Amino acid sequence: MGAMTLLAVFAHPDDEAFGSGGILARYSEAGMDVHLISATRGESGKITDPDIDPATDVGTLREQELRDACAALGIHEPHFLDYHDSGRHERTRYDDPKALLNVDELEIEAELRPYLTELCPEVMLTFDPHGIYGHIDHIRIHRAATAAFWSAGGVVAEPPRRLFYSAMSRERMQRVQAERPRSPLADLDPGLYGVAEEDFAVVAEVAPWLERKLAAIASHRSQVGPASSFANARTDRDDDAWRSMMSRETFTLGGLRGGFPRGPVDDMFAGM
Ligand SMILES: [Zn+2]
Repeated sequence: MGAMTLLAVFAHPDDEAFGSGGILARYSEAGMDVHLISATRGESGKITDPDIDPATDVGTLREQELRDACAALGIHEPHFLDYHDSGRHERTRYDDPKALLNVDELEIEAELRPYLTELCPEVMLTFDPHGIYGHIDHIRIHRAATAAFWSAGGVVAEPPRRLFYSAMSRERMQRVQAERPRSPLADLDPGLYGVAEEDFAVVAEVAPWLERKLAAIASHRSQVGPASSFANARTDRDDDAWRSMMSRETFTLGGLRGGFPRGPVDDMFAGM
């Protein structure tokens, strides 16, 4: 049998880093094939670092940042679906037909199918149903990845066996809200957007891979600059509270073919 394969499916460069960078680095280091699909290049992101020329093309810049992040995590080069970042609030791209919010979810699902056929991942990973904080692109890619997981059965020779959702506990969400009042989590109801601690299928302590994860976060330089809500994600590398928060990654179960140990366990591949 060849190496096990994990396929992570997210919407923007940097979606992989905060919630799952540690576990991606861990599986890569264990010799698994770890692939990442980003549906967009994060074109609507703001440049939050004054040292970056504001005239820089954001999509090109963030594509390179994601390549750097994947290198830091030790995973394969990212795959891009070529959709566009829908943006948020007053920057929402209602008029862009390639913006993820304007694309039929079935079309996104169909774009994912060849990756399932060719990479044969045993495990898939995407956002939880609320996209952590409700970003429309996160919800779109959650739905498309979930649909692709299920529609692969009987069609793809070796359909994925487990689908996990990157999810945040209510307690963690409240803590982020208290410590980072400008983050996208501000003003959200943790009772809706967070999940119960006992519902996690996998709780991973990723301290041994923390330096790789923090390097991946720092690779998203345009997004963690002084003007961002994660302004200190770079300087915070020595902050014990931040390190402890980033050392724990939590996942719910989104789909299953075959059994799964009674959770929570610390390994997505447990028992396989
Ligand atoms: Zn995102």
